[in-house]
Amino acid sequence: MLISDSSKLVFIDTHAHLDSSDYNHDRAAVIARAFAENIGIITVGVDLYSSREAVRLAERHRTIWAGVGVHPHDAKTFDEGVERGLRELAQKGKVVAIGEIGLDYYRDLSPRDTQREVFIEQIELANELELPVIIHNRESTKDMLGILRKHRPKRGVIHSFLGDYALAQEFISLGLHLGIGGPLTFPKNEVLRAAVKEIPIDRILVETDCPYLTPVPHRGKRNEPAYVRYVVDEIARLKGIPAAEVAAVTTENARQLFEI
Ligand SMILES: [Zn+2]
Repeated sequence: MLISDSSKLVFIDTHAHLDSSDYNHDRAAVIARAFAENIGIITVGVDLYSSREAVRLAERHRTIWAGVGVHPHDAKTFDEGVERGLRELAQKGKVVAIGEIGLDYYRDLSPRDTQREVFIEQIELANELELPVIIHNRESTKDMLGILRKHRPKRGVIHSFLGDYALAQEFISLGLHLGIGGPLTFPKNEVLRAAVKEIPIDRILVETDCPYLTPVPHRGKRNEPAYVRYVVDEIARLKGIPAAEVAAVTTENARQLFEI
């Protein structure tokens, strides 16, 4: 077991997929690099199997926590047995959220009506268990807002937020936080950078979505939690405040939202 101290965390990567097979040959080294920089990690499941793996990782490391849920890509795998499994996992002490859940109309890997039903069921599960939700939204904003207005999660985050400031305000008015990750550093994302300048910092969480969405200067390679500092640096540059302040405030935001 790697020893890490929760009270000393400088950053919290609020969205990682540490169970990904991309880490099978060096997972311990990836985790060690994050801990060396006092980075806490929320590792997020995408189906029942990976949710179990996320919980297993969280139980073995003091500063890793888990989200359990079924991703919209995998919505077609959701049934009563899966719901029972998630409910059991969610009772464990290191589980801090229901997620990753949501809608994805870009890849459409599950039928859209199934995605919507499974998303709503998991929001209701989170509300019943008094857990925040970790939400994925891709090319599905209209239905997303409709569902969130009708089936309000008590707390949660729009992970990998990519919209403009008006959309950010819509999500904030629903009581949600915005997860900002590697895409903030991609040259084409001027609209996102303009939004981040305006979004109140107390609504921002930082994340990697590793192994995906690797920030500049490592873009094109595998992502990992240690790279969350590039996201923090870019937020600091955009807002004209010290990176240490961005790190401190976003870490406190994550602690409050996920009760860690
Ligand atoms: Zn993810």
